[in-house]
Amino acid sequence: MKAHDGMYIGGAWRPAAGTDTIEVVNPADEQVIDRVPAGTAQDVDAAVRAARDAFPAWSTTPPAERAALIGALRDQLVARKDEIAETVTAELGAPLPFSQMVHAGVPILVAGSYADLAATYSFEEKIGNSTVYLEPVGVVGAITPWNYPLHQIVNKVAPALAAGCTVVLKPAEDTPLTAQLFAEAAHEAGIPAGVFNLVTGLGPVAGQALAEHEGVDLVSFTGSTAVGKQIGATAGAAVKRVALELGGKSANVILPSADLAKAVNVGVANVMSNSGQTCSAWTRMLVDSARYDEAVELAAAAAAKYGSRIGPVVNAKQQARVRGYIEKGVEEGARVVAGGAESTADQGYFIQPTVFADVTPEMTIAQEEIFGPVVSIIRYEDEDDALRIANGTVYGLAGAVWAADDAEAVAFARRMDTGQVDINGGSFNPQAPFGGYKQSGVGRELGPHGLTEYLQTKSLQF
Ligand code: NAD
Repeated sequence: MKAHDGMYIGGAWRPAAGTDTIEVVNPADEQVIDRVPAGTAQDVDAAVRAARDAFPAWSTTPPAERAALIGALRDQLVARKDEIAETVTAELGAPLPFSQMVHAGVPILVAGSYADLAATYSFEEKIGNSTVYLEPVGVVGAITPWNYPLHQIVNKVAPALAAGCTVVLKPAEDTPLTAQLFAEAAHEAGIPAGVFNLVTGLGPVAGQALAEHEGVDLVSFTGSTAVGKQIGATAGAAVKRVALELGGKSANVILPSADLAKAVNVGVANVMSNSGQTCSAWTRMLVDSARYDEAVELAAAAAAKYGSRIGPVVNAKQQARVRGYIEKGVEEGARVVAGGAESTADQGYFIQPTVFADVTPEMTIAQEEIFGPVVSIIRYEDEDDALRIANGTVYGLAGAVWAADDAEAVAFARRMDTGQVDINGGSFNPQAPFGGYKQSGVGRELGPHGLTEYLQTKSLQF
């Protein structure tokens, strides 16, 4: 696609207030592919005003009509799925088949689920002598990361629109072209002017202006814990609602009764997909002492198969950060059994699929979110030890448990401090609530639980 040189505000592409631009770089070959405007507080203000102006009519539009428009938006995403996949591949670096299946495919499912929910959800309930109305929160400031550029946008915009909220989106600076494509889709779908607005720009400028804007009623943020804490503090000071979807350091717990080869292979594949840039990735693999060496061999072989099949990481800074973690792992005494910090590509921000053995729970690579294709295999002595290790980080976003039967795995999963657990390789459910315990965040996305984040209650007594 060709980038727009303006902001999508009030139903039209308008020139940006300033003249600064952001370069969009293809991480596979390090070439600048386009430029988008770097928004300022002035652009954010114009977008918030447009969203406020549109709120009274949108919030009182019958849910069935909102549902039809979200359905039309879904259809636009279907019509543009090839362009979306190519754009995500160009600005994120993901291999094209993965972009087609996941980056373009999953948002279609999520948008479709909110078209259905808007049509069927009961925005009214009776409790004793009260009628309780579930009303939209107001104007939403959505701030999204680059790792799943369209999914992160649709996760926020679709439920917000279903609830009757209007939105200003500030997407990640690395992946603004996908966001512009989404704005085109919203426009073509007939989403009324001002209901969805887009301001591209830098986090500390446009993002911060949006989070601080007094015309925003709810800030929904996905990204790093450091920025999330800052946004949470700003929202708290203004008594503004906030949803935070932050980092993770999820455990893949392989119990002694599990099919080891399957659990290891699926676990390595989980981390390698999207080059490890998935907040819910199972980056810590927990294996019992008796089968530890076998698991290490299987994981090293599985990672080696990914060799040149994974894409680069998003930018040079991320590449340096991931390499730094790999070097730190070696320094702290972990053993590289596949991959390593050296790059094997002449150009592009590639990282080798890397597996560490002899990782202990307190090592930096077992505690901090690396956001790259790096798996740490940790030994446990018994189930209580495995649980202590699994729960032993500040995060609690996701995880996996493997056992001979589901009941055994469920019993373990119920003791984990985490928001989502896949049992024996259970598959992704776009309607299941997604979000974290502990420092992985506040609030939930997806399905009916994701919708309620954008609603507030009003009780009438009779
Ligand atoms: P980030 O938190 O800096 O950026 C996420 C979004 O927040 C972007 O749109 C960015 O422009 C915006 N932002 C940045 N500073 C802001 C500020 N002061 N006020 C308002 N908005 C601001 O994340 P990043 O630099 O893109 O990635 C850094 C790390 O974050 C990654 O290595 C990874 O650990 C983590 N991360 C997590 C997720 C997730 O889904 N949980 C996604 C991406 C990154």
